[in-house]
Order: sequence, then C-alpha cells, then structure tokens
Amino acid sequence: MSDYMFMLESHLNADHNRVVNAITVMATEANVNLYLAGGAVRDMLGGFAIRDLDFTIETPVQKFAEKVAAQLGGEVVFEDPLHRYSELVLPGGVTAQIAVSRDESYAKPGGKPKITVPAPIWADLKRRDFTIDGIALGLNRGSRGQLRDPNNGIADLQNRELRASYTGIFADDPVRMLRLIRLKHRLGFSVDERTMRQFENAKLDELHLLITPEARLDELKQIAQESTSAEILKDYQALGMMPIFSSALAGEKLDIHALEKLERLRKMIPAGLFGSGGGWLAFADVLTSGLNIRERQEFARNLGLDRRVSEAIKKLPADAKKLESTLKSAKMQKPSHVYFALEPASGDLLLYLMYQSEQRIVQDRIRNYLQKYLPAAQEAALEAPTGKARTEAITKKLNARPKKPAVPVPAPEPEPLPATRGWSARRT
Ligand code: ATP
Ligand code: MG
Repeated sequence: MSDYMFMLESHLNADHNRVVNAITVMATEANVNLYLAGGAVRDMLGGFAIRDLDFTIETPVQKFAEKVAAQLGGEVVFEDPLHRYSELVLPGGVTAQIAVSRDESYAKPGGKPKITVPAPIWADLKRRDFTIDGIALGLNRGSRGQLRDPNNGIADLQNRELRASYTGIFADDPVRMLRLIRLKHRLGFSVDERTMRQFENAKLDELHLLITPEARLDELKQIAQESTSAEILKDYQALGMMPIFSSALAGEKLDIHALEKLERLRKMIPAGLFGSGGGWLAFADVLTSGLNIRERQEFARNLGLDRRVSEAIKKLPADAKKLESTLKSAKMQKPSHVYFALEPASGDLLLYLMYQSEQRIVQDRIRNYLQKYLPAAQEAALEAPTGKARTEAITKKLNARPKKPAVPVPAPEPEPLPATRGWSARRT
C-alpha cells in the first residue's frame, strides 16, 4: 500500500473508510478514474479533521451519485446540474460530494461560468480557488495512492499559507473572498502577500457585492459550524465585508462575546443532532438578537431567506422557553423522564436553550442528557431499535440504579503460625 493510502486510511474513521472503499469499487466497475480531492485531501495532508469527502470522477457516469446513494443506503440531498456535482448524506453521518471533473471559464466577474465536461483532472485542479484545495489523490486503477498537485499546493500546506491558484480567482467567483477568510481562521494559516493584494483589489472593485444571496447564506451556514466563527465574523467586519450580510452588524451590534459563548456550547453537542443545517438556526438567532425588525428584514433579504427559515429562527426562543419549563418541572424525577423530554429536540434547540437558560437545573439536565443518557440510550437501542420495546429498553437502562460498590469482604485473619519450638528442639 502506498504511503498516502495508508495515511488516508489512518486519518479516516471507520464510516469514512467504508464509503471510500465502496465508491472505489463502484468506480472501478464503471471503468472511470476516481480521485479524492479538495478539502478532504488538504485536511488529510495537513493533519486536520476531515469534514466531508470530496470525490471527483474523470468521466461522467450516468446517475453515479444516485447509484452510490442506493448501494450505501444514503441519499442525494443536493444536485448542481450546472457545475455537475451532487451532495450525499450516507450512513454514519458521512457527507460526501461527487463531482465530474470540469474546467470553467468566466465571461464577466461573478458571472455564470462556461463549463467544459469532462476535463482532465489536472485542469479541474488548476481552476480551483487556492493551491491547497487543488490536490487530488488517485483511488483506483493506475493512479491509486498517487497525488496530483499541479499548483504545488503541498509546498503551501507545508508553509501553512493560502495562495490563489491563479490571478483572477476573486473576479471569477467572488465567494472565494469569503472562503479565503474562513479557511485562514479555520486552518490557522497566513495569506500569501500577493493573494492578499488580489483580495484588496477585489474589494476596491466591490466584487463582494456580486456574491449571490444563496452563496452568502451557504457561507454563513459553514461559519456557524466553525469553532472560530466569532473570529471569522470579526475579520469580515474589520475588512469591510459585513454589509453584505447586514449593515447593522458592520457596527456595534456584532456581539462577539455572545458568539464565543455559543461556540463553546456547540462543542458539547454531537454533530449528528444538528441535521443538515449544522446549527445554523441557533447561530442566526444569536447573531441577529440585537437587531430591530427593519435590520432583521435587511439580513433576511441579503441572504435570500425565505419566510419558512425566518419563521424557524423566530420560533426558537418560544420553543426554548417551553422546553425550559418542562425540564424544570417536578415531573422530571428519573433519567428516562429527562431523556424522553429532550429526545425530540433538535441540536439547534438544545444549543439555544443552553445558551439562554439561567437555570442551573436546566443546564445540568441537558448536560446529563448529552454526556450520559444519550450514549446509554443509543447502546440500549441496539438491542431493541424501534417501538415500545425500544422505549422499555431505554427506560430500564437509564433508570437502573448504579450498582453499589460491593462491600469489601474483610480479609481472613491469617492463621496463627504453628508454635515453633525452639530451634534446638527441632528434630531433623
Ligand atoms: P470543507 O472542509 O468545509 O468541506 P472544502 O474546501 O472541502 O472545505 P467544499 O465546499 O467541500 O469545501 O468544496 C470542495 C472543494 O471544491 C474545495 O476544496 C475546492 O477545491 C473546491 N471549491 C469549493 N468552492 C469553490 C469555489 N467557490 N471556487 C473554487 N473552488 C471551490
Ligand atoms: Mg469539503
């Protein structure tokens, strides 16, 4: 096995590895070159946790993503027919992207690109945003275990530097301005000087205003999941980027301490509880809590939020209040009561309640739920996965009295040694 395949296997968890192996077999059967690329390779080589698996296939295969989802028991949650990629959610909470290798050319800043498909993998890697994002690892056939790195991203990874893959990256797709700052904070990298100048020029040309509302929303959802979200937004503010989200947040209404508190609490909640929104609703509520109605409307307009999302954000405080009073009630006497009261709550609601509640008992009960009851219930549900049997198994497991430590049995008194007669009396 090549060093990189070994590095990949040891960097991925069991669910990730299962997905990589299954897709590799399917690509080989379909006779198509498959690569792991983008963030997944960057994070593997840089020693960072891998968030999602970014696959690229070199030739289009009819409904490849659907076939993968069907075979692995997952689903395709998003398809981009223009850029030719699909996003999948697979068992074990694995998220993956399968893209057809493509080349792009842009007629005007922020415009719709002309896409050429299929393109050789090296052309696909050269058109990506930053050099460290343009590395691919071959997974099957002749290229297994080999790296493709046309922009010398490995050197930049070693120097911990973000460098534009080519001169016009921001003009072609201005959302890369937001990605640059987000990745800088997430990875703790510096930005190459020329790239920073290109960024400044793009800002002078107001290219960031061309970022579409959907792309702004997508980025903010990503930021909500970062453990440096407060730092990123502070930097957007310092760089004059904030008005594309909200002009009020460009000033004093950006509450960094509130975001830092949210960030700390978020780490206590398993990612699986957040669903595909990734904790975005709680984040949005805290972010906009100091805004008046007019300012909230501007925020919603800038991000193209539809009424449904705005309503869901608005509903969170009321839902949290209701859950808070349930958790405080005298009925919550046993662990199973707490468990079943919290089981239907989304990650967003739990996060928001932990953020808001000043009640010690509420905080303690949520923490017990996350740290003790949830893992124990998952274990109990392995034996009885559904219905009444599940409820009973969980109840029994959670409410079982912890076994008292056994009362130590006193060690027997040592038998008195037989009386020794005097040495001299010993008979030999
Ligand atoms: P994450 O760890 O958050 O998934 P990522 O860099 O992998 O970070 P993705 O959105 O998964 O982000 O994108 C996968 C890859 O696609 C990137 O690493 C990069 O190579 C490329 N990419 C994503 N967005 C852009 C963009 N706007 N312009 C150019 N390349 C992009
Ligand atoms: Mg990715």
